Amino acid sequence: MSDSNFQMTDDLVQPFMIDASGLNGRLVRLGNAIDTIVTRHDLPESVRALLGKLLALGAGMATALKYDGIFTLQIKSDGPVSMMVADVTTNGDIRGYAQLSGEIADEEAARAAPVPNLLGKGYMAFTVDQGAEMERYQGIVELVGDSLEDSIDNYFEKSEQFASKTHLAAGKTPSGQWRATAIVLQRLPEESGDKTHEETQEDWVRAVTLMKSATADEMLDERLDAHGMLYRLFHEDGVRVYDPRPLDVGCRCSRDRIAGILMGMPDDDLDHAMVDGKISVNCEFCNVSFDFTPNDVDALKAARRDQA
Ligand SMILES: [Zn+2]
Repeated sequence: MSDSNFQMTDDLVQPFMIDASGLNGRLVRLGNAIDTIVTRHDLPESVRALLGKLLALGAGMATALKYDGIFTLQIKSDGPVSMMVADVTTNGDIRGYAQLSGEIADEEAARAAPVPNLLGKGYMAFTVDQGAEMERYQGIVELVGDSLEDSIDNYFEKSEQFASKTHLAAGKTPSGQWRATAIVLQRLPEESGDKTHEETQEDWVRAVTLMKSATADEMLDERLDAHGMLYRLFHEDGVRVYDPRPLDVGCRCSRDRIAGILMGMPDDDLDHAMVDGKISVNCEFCNVSFDFTPNDVDALKAARRDQA
């Protein structure tokens, strides 16, 4: 993209409020960031699309919470994709990967209905990790229906105090770039104000209908920026935008960090971990290996003894 306006509108969370109803939402738009993450591994397109949606969903959920740390969505299931992870830090660093452990029988069916065709039976857990001292919040979402939206919508339908609906899209543009978009609408009980229960319910149904009217093509259109898209969906009811929050690809792996872990291991374990003359530690998120030669390992052992 040569037009800088377009670049500014990617890789961000755009919070918004619908004036007529006072309902809050967030629009997540991922361009370069998602393209980098989903193309790091050799994966079928259906899996890349699902990973893109999971990351967009994660960013949409994380920014609804007040936390300082790491928000993680992790899927474990019995289908060809046995595990998927997406995490989002308070700083806006996102990362994720998918573990493929079986054959995908029908790629087209997998795109149309990823839950039964890629994931099978399983759960999506979300956790908020605010460091060792802090509580770890956790929710368990059962995988149901065809899509991640079906599963997460079903989870919030059972929630008494909090309504939330999600609309997701991920795919490749004609120019070959992967993109992902999430729209999340939410309703808190105290937001009904002086409206009747029926009016509040009507507002909610209307906003959800407008949100779900966005087609995948619109949601993945790189020429339609965040404001343009929100305006297109909600302009009749008035839509207000707040400061966007940037997102970027970020991982917490580093050679120093892995060296620190290796230093904590006994000599015997280090010797056993040596394969073909090196210890090789892979970061699944980045798909990079950190290699430690016998000399490196001897230096780690010596450093540990010096510390003791
Ligand atoms: Zn990494």
